[in-house]
Amino acid sequence: MNAKSVNRRLFSFIADSPSPYHATQTMHRELSKAGAKELNEREKWNIKPGQPYLITRDDGTLICFNIGKKNSNEFRILGSHTDSPCLQIKPNADIFEKTYHKIGVEVYGGVLLNPWFDRELSVAGRVTVKTEADIIKQHLVDFARPIAIIPSVAIHLDRNANKEKKINEQKDVVPLIGLGDAQHSGFANYLKKQLKKQVQGASVIELLGYDLFLYDYHTPCNTGINNEFIVSSRLDNLLSCFVILSAILSADTQNSYMVVCNNHEEVGSNTSAGAQGNLVQAVFERLFPDNDRRYRILADSFFISIDNAHATHPNYPEKHDSGHNILLNKGPVIKINANQRYTSNSRSNAIFKFLCSEVKIPYQEFVMRSDMPCGSTIGPMTSAKLGLQAIDIGAPSLAMHSIRELTGSDDPLLMLKVVTHFLNRKQLPTIQ
Ligand SMILES: [Zn+2]
Repeated sequence: MNAKSVNRRLFSFIADSPSPYHATQTMHRELSKAGAKELNEREKWNIKPGQPYLITRDDGTLICFNIGKKNSNEFRILGSHTDSPCLQIKPNADIFEKTYHKIGVEVYGGVLLNPWFDRELSVAGRVTVKTEADIIKQHLVDFARPIAIIPSVAIHLDRNANKEKKINEQKDVVPLIGLGDAQHSGFANYLKKQLKKQVQGASVIELLGYDLFLYDYHTPCNTGINNEFIVSSRLDNLLSCFVILSAILSADTQNSYMVVCNNHEEVGSNTSAGAQGNLVQAVFERLFPDNDRRYRILADSFFISIDNAHATHPNYPEKHDSGHNILLNKGPVIKINANQRYTSNSRSNAIFKFLCSEVKIPYQEFVMRSDMPCGSTIGPMTSAKLGLQAIDIGAPSLAMHSIRELTGSDDPLLMLKVVTHFLNRKQLPTIQ
């Protein structure tokens, strides 16, 4: 395992996962290949120790677990999220103006909007259709080529653009998808054509609905004079999904583990597929219907929530707490907040630091400036719901929520090392 090969796999994971549904599909494919059996929430389960299982909900959330051959009470639980801030296409998308064909979009999550201008954008997501056989079918769709762009206003027409650029989501963030008029073209028609091209034998009588997102067409790559950095879309939080997936593929089947990758983190998680939904709880209740046994298991378990962390920006060090400089390629970041926006505390941090020292990797500790509000993630929701001892960590990154985000070339490997160790260690460290 070296950084180059890990990053190569990370790049193809991200390229294969332009939407949360595709990310879930990619993980599903890899886990199935490795022998995980799919469970359906509608059916009765017959669970065997040592066998990995996977389950998805609403196409964008995935859980994989193994109750372990050892039948121990200790579940090692890992969490991340499959969604990223982006632009979501409105139901009646078409706008025709001055021969241009534009599509209306809503902003999904906390998008840093400026970098979305002048970029080649594609579209991916899921679509439901009525077929010739008079049934409803769903397909994942990915145009997989640049089909949209949001052009900036030229500097000659907006002399103050470099000084006071304000963006109005409704007026300014309207991608062009071509030239045309209402009579001859429409986004729905292009979508139907794409479905026919992409899905063999797809029959589409009527488009019934879609969840479609614009994404940056360009694939991840290294940058930096010595390839020190990784630049990519959706590093938040596909980097963490990738780490979790890679770790679980080599997990010791003697141990009990669960990984959960939730959709909808970027919009508050309050959905059936989100971390405020009941999926993890429901799975635990089905695995261990006896309350006493289940509560003992949860009390003995440990949850690592992984979501990228802010590295200290070299051009804006004043935005960061000067006592907590977070650097790229210097190890996973423990995220700490006095108001419990993160789950990390001295006990869970101690266990994580202990694991890092065992595999000889560095770690860093992040706090927000005291005069700035702190973000949050799935950690507090899942740990509160289940009563889990937990920690929030993440890979250091710059330009979080931009269309291209930055992390260090060694950071995925460093994270993977400690997470793999967490899954495979004979027993979890305890505090005496
Ligand atoms: Zn995130």
